[in-house]
Amino acid sequence: MSPPASSRLAALGLVLLLAACSQTTITGEQSKGGPKPLDVEVTISTFETFARAVGGDRILVTSLVPVGASPEDYQPSPADIEKLHAADVLIENGVGLESWLARTIDNAKNPALDVVVATRGLPVKDGNPHLWMDPEFARSYVRTIRDALIARDPAGKSAYLRNAAGYDKDLVALEQEIAAKIRTIPPASRSMIVFHNAWQYYDDRFGLRTIGVIELSPGQEPNPQYISKLIGLAKANHVRAVFAEPEYSPKLVDALAQSAGISTVENLYDDSIGSDPHVRTYDDMLRYDTATIVKALGGSAT
Ligand SMILES: [Zn+2]
Repeated sequence: MSPPASSRLAALGLVLLLAACSQTTITGEQSKGGPKPLDVEVTISTFETFARAVGGDRILVTSLVPVGASPEDYQPSPADIEKLHAADVLIENGVGLESWLARTIDNAKNPALDVVVATRGLPVKDGNPHLWMDPEFARSYVRTIRDALIARDPAGKSAYLRNAAGYDKDLVALEQEIAAKIRTIPPASRSMIVFHNAWQYYDDRFGLRTIGVIELSPGQEPNPQYISKLIGLAKANHVRAVFAEPEYSPKLVDALAQSAGISTVENLYDDSIGSDPHVRTYDDMLRYDTATIVKALGGSAT
């Protein structure tokens, strides 16, 4: 049975409307005189540095999760759906960091969106998503982003290759700089208790130990028995400080540190860069974090 004439007419109207829209888009691009920068979205602000370093002026980058917010319990907004509807490339971490993202991508209804999983090919430990905190793994994020941008914008290939190679050198130097600073911490003091498990890969790379984690899964408060266990671990391992991030409530951190008789450091950056100028890029964030950790654990901060 053929559809009624009214729905055939409606369908024809839709086709004409779509044709008119695409015509407008082509005209709009032509009038700008040059290629339109790629619209690149990253999930967390920490990845903005990687995308900008590779993309240069061929891309425009914004992050979905605002600076200072946690990606693990982020609630996406209608504006995020609109951003993804209009974007060319989305860079996500994967490994369960952005559990809200698949639905946001579905709602964005953008079949042309290239979704890039930045942890692709990296060795995940214990399901922990925070691989970018190891600068060696960050180099792999950058290569993955480079390849994705080349695939989407082949005309920019030489620029992307050149930019990525330049930034790779920066990351190698950053890794060496951090390793040298961590080596100034007395070996017996190279232990951390952290609010959430963002430091496993950094600690493994640089010879620190994550002795304990206060919040084992996002939003789940630990019970008193677990906190007692952490206090015992802190004492047995002579842990000098508990570390947390500004986006989390300091209540539990303070309580644990007081009971264990150790200090608190509540301004580490990992899932989000900071809004202050000294922590606004990935490199500066890791430099600042390292200086903070080295100072708290009795190393030489200079
Ligand atoms: Zn995290």
